[in-house]
Amino acid sequence: MSAASLNPAQLEAVHHLAGPCLVLAGAGSGKTRVITHKIARLLQHGLEPRQIAAITFTNKAAAEMRERAKGLVGPRAAKDLAISTFHALGVRMLRADGERLGLKPSFSILDSDDVLGVLRDAGGATDNKQARHWQWTISLWKNQGLDADGAEAAARDDDERVAARIMRRYEERLAAYQAVDFDDLIVLPLKLLERDAEARAKWQAAFGHVLVDEYQDTNAVQYELMKALVGTDGPRHRSGRFTAVGDDDQSIYGWRGATIDNLKRLPRDYPSLRVIPLEQNYRSTGSILRAANAVIAHNPKLFEKKLWSELGDGEPVRVIDCDGEEHEAERAVTRIQALRGQQGARFADVAVLYRANHQARAFEQKLRAAQIPYKVSGGQSWFDRAEIKDLCAWLRLLVNQDDDPAFLRAATTPKRGIGHQTLAALGEYAGKWRISMFEAIFAPGLPGVLKGKGLDALQHFAREVNELEHRARHTAGAEDAKALLLEWLKTLGYEQHLRDGEDSPKLAEARWSNVLDFVDWIARRCGGQLTQEAGTFESEKLTVLDVAQTISIIISLAERGDEQDVVTLSTLHAAKGLEWPHVVLAGVNEGLLPFRGADEEMTAERLEEERRLMYVGITRAQRTLTVSTLKRRKRGRETVAGVPSRFVVEMKLDEAVVKEDPRERLRRLREELAARGAAASPAAGR
Ligand code: ATP
Ligand code: MG
Repeated sequence: MSAASLNPAQLEAVHHLAGPCLVLAGAGSGKTRVITHKIARLLQHGLEPRQIAAITFTNKAAAEMRERAKGLVGPRAAKDLAISTFHALGVRMLRADGERLGLKPSFSILDSDDVLGVLRDAGGATDNKQARHWQWTISLWKNQGLDADGAEAAARDDDERVAARIMRRYEERLAAYQAVDFDDLIVLPLKLLERDAEARAKWQAAFGHVLVDEYQDTNAVQYELMKALVGTDGPRHRSGRFTAVGDDDQSIYGWRGATIDNLKRLPRDYPSLRVIPLEQNYRSTGSILRAANAVIAHNPKLFEKKLWSELGDGEPVRVIDCDGEEHEAERAVTRIQALRGQQGARFADVAVLYRANHQARAFEQKLRAAQIPYKVSGGQSWFDRAEIKDLCAWLRLLVNQDDDPAFLRAATTPKRGIGHQTLAALGEYAGKWRISMFEAIFAPGLPGVLKGKGLDALQHFAREVNELEHRARHTAGAEDAKALLLEWLKTLGYEQHLRDGEDSPKLAEARWSNVLDFVDWIARRCGGQLTQEAGTFESEKLTVLDVAQTISIIISLAERGDEQDVVTLSTLHAAKGLEWPHVVLAGVNEGLLPFRGADEEMTAERLEEERRLMYVGITRAQRTLTVSTLKRRKRGRETVAGVPSRFVVEMKLDEAVVKEDPRERLRRLREELAARGAAASPAAGR
């Protein structure tokens, strides 16, 4: 271990082994680094790797910490370290000792959808909305350490009294099924340690030291579990040996029951607690740090913290004002290309961060069109959604009828009487003659192995594909393309298919809305692309088939997602603890960040949590930070005027807003005009 790579305050935290320790410090000050180095120190001190429990917030963070520890202590020791999330630790404890609570070692873990099903059943509810509400309420109770009795006593109105009653039935059912939910993974191990002295002694002896990263985002039961694992403060040598590191300014899970009280309770519950502040930030340039400090200064202070950086001012924080989501994504792409060109940045050096998952979509589309590889973390990629994949399968099939995977998907979604046996027979025949499945449908020999309804259904399908291909080849321009696609979706019965597949009308609605967005996207691309020849711009309408072709290429790019050198698209929540040389903070608008739901009241607490999210976002950046705001933004299917977020003002930047390169702007405006012109005169495309 190279102690030289730690400052004196960090060293103090690493060397304090005898009792409880809290490192309370701002972003990028090396808290996580303290944990990894302390692991190495504990090993030197004689602990076995398996006696060191390090708790991280996500599985990904656990993997990364093991990786960093490997660099310090070698692969052998790193493998046996007990690095995991609270939940994974809970699973381990329950698999080992759950029987003491009446749980079989083979208990099953219900995911959120399973839970919804059980709750619907327990509460006699037919719609998911009600069940979700119960799920949310019960989960919050559980995370406050309440069981059904406690919940009944705590219920404040009729609504909550009903939820408490359902909680009792729900718990009975889980016990009968030998199943646990995610919350139980913390609640039950805690119960085990509290009620069973033998188990408590065993688990306290198992871990010589417990380290907790992102301590500010632990909730009440996680705190109790940690306490139960390390024992209370006291003269006994084994007691209270833990290291917690955190930053109250980065607490962003209040909405899920995390409580900042855990920070206040720690010195009370552990009077011998050593509290160590860290003040030097090693991550960000002066400009970035100043902006971060200026924003967070608007929140009331729990603990006074100073943060400084030796890295120099660096480039000023840029604010760019965009016309809308697409323009924002285009400018991000231009920015990424410039960073690569001028600063030699890799794709992996750049992250685009946003408040809500849906914001990723425009970036995904533009990045793909620009052939820039990326990964989406903290949410699902738009292109991975079932409904988008279904439609893409059709488009791929139009372009290349020999695309068997696309064929299989398109032929069976929505269901159209082409069953498993039919496909198996078709596949076998195609394999034997080395032709594609589509080609096999019209092979003269097929009726020899496949007859009746199955064959009819296949031939009907193939005719539909051919007809659509013919029309796609001859339809150009935004308006006509849109009409064709909508008509085709109708023929498919796709909207009904979505409604049949979803319990909740709201979810079906959301998926249908994705489909309509996809149609709009294709239509816009058909509306006009510009070719630049000798300085003149010429708008050129594309046929649906042309666009389907480029989309096929775009889709196949998706498979590059595993590569290392990719741009990261991430929600702010999922970006916690991470860092990138270049960060684009997108959609920094009122309503988006701070986020505000349709009929949600913005309380002071909510606003403060949103401000902490902004602080988390800014402090992910090492060298450059670009903040973009929207002049117009989409809300549902409407477009509304955009107001820059108050957080932009709070950054107190003296630099002017970065204007778009005039040539870029001209190109874009022409493109927009061309697309609108196409939409205004439907005849033009024919
Ligand atoms: P966050 O609050 O975002 O979780 P953190 O406090 O955990 O941040 P780290 O991720 O541990 O901070 O460190 C931030 C960056 O600074 C990392 O790249 C880390 O390697 C580097 N760093 C930390 N301490 C030192 C040090 N003493 N010398 C050099 N670099 C350091
Ligand atoms: Mg950290």
